[in-house]
Amino acid sequence: MEELKDKLVVPGDKVGTHEEWMPGEGTYEESGIIYSKTFGRLEYDEDRLEANVRPFNPVTEVEEGDIIYGTVRNKRKSIATVDIALVEGSNRGIAMDMEGTLHISKISDDYTENIEDNYLKGDVVRAKVTQISPSIQLTTIGSDLGVVRGYCFNCRRGMERTRDTLYCSYCDRRERRKISNLYGHITLKSK
Ligand SMILES: [Zn+2]
Repeated sequence: MEELKDKLVVPGDKVGTHEEWMPGEGTYEESGIIYSKTFGRLEYDEDRLEANVRPFNPVTEVEEGDIIYGTVRNKRKSIATVDIALVEGSNRGIAMDMEGTLHISKISDDYTENIEDNYLKGDVVRAKVTQISPSIQLTTIGSDLGVVRGYCFNCRRGMERTRDTLYCSYCDRRERRKISNLYGHITLKSK
C-alpha cells in the first residue's frame, strides 16, 4: 500500500488492510480492509499505525478550466448533477455546497442517448469546468475524464476496472461507464 502515499483518494478507495494499519480519520473498516470515507489526501501515521484521509483546505469557488472531482447526484435523461468536492492542482477542497451540471452531449465523443448508460448515482467523476456563470457546466469528454470510482448497482461496493467496463467480483456483475483512464490511479498534480 506504500505506493498510495500522498495520493488523492475518493470515497470507497482501499487505503490499507487491518494487518498493517488502524482505521483513522476519514476512513472505515470492512472485512479487514480499510476504505476512505471521503475525498482527501492519504496519510499514514507511522507512530500510531493509523491510515488517515485528511481533507483539503477549502475554497469556495472554481474557475473555468479547473479539473474537479465530484459525486454524481441527481440525474435526468439528459442532464446529471455533480456535487463538486475538490479542485485538482492546488489542494482546493470545496467548502460549501457546489453543484456542476453535466449535459448528455458533454459526456463523451460517442453518441449516447441516456445518462444512465454512462453514470450512475454515487459515481465519483473527474470532470473539467467549461463555464462558471450563470451556472457551473462540466464536461467529461477526453480519455482522462469520466468515472474514477464506480459503485456496484447491486451491492454498492467499489468496482474494479476491466478494459472498458467496471466489474464487481462479489456480484460477478459488469457495468458500463464512461471510464477515465485514471481510474484507480489518481495522483495529486500541481498546476
Ligand atoms: Zn456488487
